[in-house]
Amino acid sequence: MQRSIGVTTAQYIAAGLVEDQKLVGPLHVFEESSEAELIHEMPATEIARAIAGVAAAIAAGKKVDAIGIGLPGIILNGIVEESPNLRQLKGANMQELVSAALRDTEIEAPVHVYNDADVVAAGLAAARGHLDRLIRVWTLGHGIGFGIYPWHEGVWEGGHVVVSLDPREKYCGCGGRGHLEGIMGHRSMRLRFLDMEPDEIFENAKSGDQRCVDFVKLWHAALAAGTANSIHLAGAGKFFITGFNAKHVDVNVLNQYLHEMVKMSPLQGYVFEVVPGGTDIAVIGAAVNAARAHQ
Ligand SMILES: [Zn+2]
Repeated sequence: MQRSIGVTTAQYIAAGLVEDQKLVGPLHVFEESSEAELIHEMPATEIARAIAGVAAAIAAGKKVDAIGIGLPGIILNGIVEESPNLRQLKGANMQELVSAALRDTEIEAPVHVYNDADVVAAGLAAARGHLDRLIRVWTLGHGIGFGIYPWHEGVWEGGHVVVSLDPREKYCGCGGRGHLEGIMGHRSMRLRFLDMEPDEIFENAKSGDQRCVDFVKLWHAALAAGTANSIHLAGAGKFFITGFNAKHVDVNVLNQYLHEMVKMSPLQGYVFEVVPGGTDIAVIGAAVNAARAHQ
């Protein structure tokens, strides 16, 4: 049996012990009370120390096989290449920093760092018995995350795939034009509709406000387009949708658009499922990915 520790930094640093793809005991949370502001202000070395401290508390002197950490941004070989949400981590070798911080504790375990959407994909695969197949997940939050399981090296910035050639589509947080996140992201929706909040856009669409109706169509078409692009590159399969704006997804509308975009018969076996995510799913996923790296 493998014992691994999963860590997520989605809103705050949370971690847990995972055995046989299941969470054992409660999640440990670092600085629960002041959460978001704090992690955004912490330098990389402090975040690494906090992660090592939480991991040591969880291990409680017992052997751990691996530690997996989910971080926002582009992660390559343990290094945070780009992280719009935790800007101070750009360029930081988090694998090295956490390993160094662990030397002050009793834990000797290899550290692996993953994109935070990839750990959600792994967590959903584990929680739903899909560890034997390709799983993709869209996380619809402030930005748009795209996660893939089984993990493999790559960039996979699916939230930034180009889904429009309209030069007016310029709301993506990364500054790129025509991006999926520029249409679907919470931040982008607020920039587009300066006079209403995203929840109001979807409510007003239901009561027939034409501008909102048109946007909600575009919002679904954009997700269908992003998914169609992924299907044409990696094949059909299961797509989970999660995140706080997943509640606005109408799967029937999404399927209608996708049917228009994907016509080759071997690519038709795709399934969407809107599911709750949560910190525990991300923690399990980070641990499962790290454990798999040592099998
Ligand atoms: Zn972008």
